[in-house]
Amino acid sequence: MLDQIFTAIDRGLLRTPQRRLWAAGRLTPGLIARLQEGKFRATVRYAVKHSKFYREKFREYGLDPAKVRTHADLGDFFTTQEDLRERPIEDFLCAKPEFGFETTGTTMGINKRVYFSYREMFDYGRDGAAGLYNLGLRSDDIVADGFDYSFWNAPFTAYYSIMAIGAFHVIGAFVEPKEFYERIKAYKPTVIMGVPTHLVRVTEVAEREGTWPVKLIFLGGENLSERTREYMASVWKGAKVYLSYGQTEAFGMNGVECPRAGGYHLSALSLMSEIINPDEEGYGELVYTTLSRSVMPLIRYRSADLTRWAKGPDCDCALRLMPRVDKIVGRCDELINCSMGNISPYWFDTMLEDVPEVTHDWQVFVRRGARDDRIEFHLELVNGGSEQRVKERIFRNIEQHFPDCWRYYQKRFFELDFQFHPPHTLSEGRKLRRLIDARRDAWN
Ligand SMILES: [Zn+2]
Repeated sequence: MLDQIFTAIDRGLLRTPQRRLWAAGRLTPGLIARLQEGKFRATVRYAVKHSKFYREKFREYGLDPAKVRTHADLGDFFTTQEDLRERPIEDFLCAKPEFGFETTGTTMGINKRVYFSYREMFDYGRDGAAGLYNLGLRSDDIVADGFDYSFWNAPFTAYYSIMAIGAFHVIGAFVEPKEFYERIKAYKPTVIMGVPTHLVRVTEVAEREGTWPVKLIFLGGENLSERTREYMASVWKGAKVYLSYGQTEAFGMNGVECPRAGGYHLSALSLMSEIINPDEEGYGELVYTTLSRSVMPLIRYRSADLTRWAKGPDCDCALRLMPRVDKIVGRCDELINCSMGNISPYWFDTMLEDVPEVTHDWQVFVRRGARDDRIEFHLELVNGGSEQRVKERIFRNIEQHFPDCWRYYQKRFFELDFQFHPPHTLSEGRKLRRLIDARRDAWN
């Protein structure tokens, strides 16, 4: 009942980002927990009643939906990526879908599909607007976005969020960077949104041809290295560069960066989140239940994204009562166990963060070497760059940031190999797959 009253207030009184942020700062942790539990219990009962998948799974695991109050009450039960790939989508649907998206970045050949209603996207837009308002977006801003429309939710997440704020919006979509730059320039956008790999190229054009005042660059869809963030901020002369964290499964709205303390605030009222199987540093897999969906709710969904609860002092931003996770350090399916260690793309971002002589595009292959694994860097050398200096900096960064790894290297547990390419030759598609385990190819 409490959660139904809250939903009515949420859609009425709290529909503007200013009011949402005002309210978010005045809830108490106890009230947030009660609302979250109420929404969670309602979602579980609703999903088991209407979806074939959850009905079957709850029976199989001997779970009584009336007794489930938290994730812990679900025992070993999770919804997995494989479930979404292997089961017909109809098994998950609880109401008539109105919109379908596919997940990106999959390496499995089958894209997962996720369905929504307009109402759900509209609801998510209000949350997104609050997150963007918290980062500085206002109704008198002009926003240009470069998100790719093909099967992907990101441009719609932007659309509904910008609409909820009431800012001006022009869509450039995923066109060639020079054309994007030249055409958005006519609008003089104060805010630019898009994926890092595309907007880095746009920023390179702007560096050559000139900029205009941009206060906010808001990125999504991929991870962002600190080096790329600093580069964009320096070219766009002090623009704040922030990243959202989201999966298509949550309409790209898992979290938005905290402007004060970093990391991502997760919405406690649209997601119940937990981190499972944490390592000694607290990094584990983020798992969540969607709390405000009627078409395709997901219960205790394994995101495959690795993060940990943010440490250090609490932030003092308007979303301070919402839980906060650290950087996303990789995906479970991107982690590669090899003789260099249990490596993820995050490692290489760190190794390349202060190496200005290579571009932001890089790729690493793990191959079978003569004795053990060979780690093959593919880097784009900028004009006039020295291969030797690049290698020296990478070696120094490994020694400083990954001391165990450096010891293994000195003991020749693995080999390093560097291949240099001209700028802008590595990236072919929307996402450059950063880290590739090619060891199996040796046997084919
Ligand atoms: Zn914050």
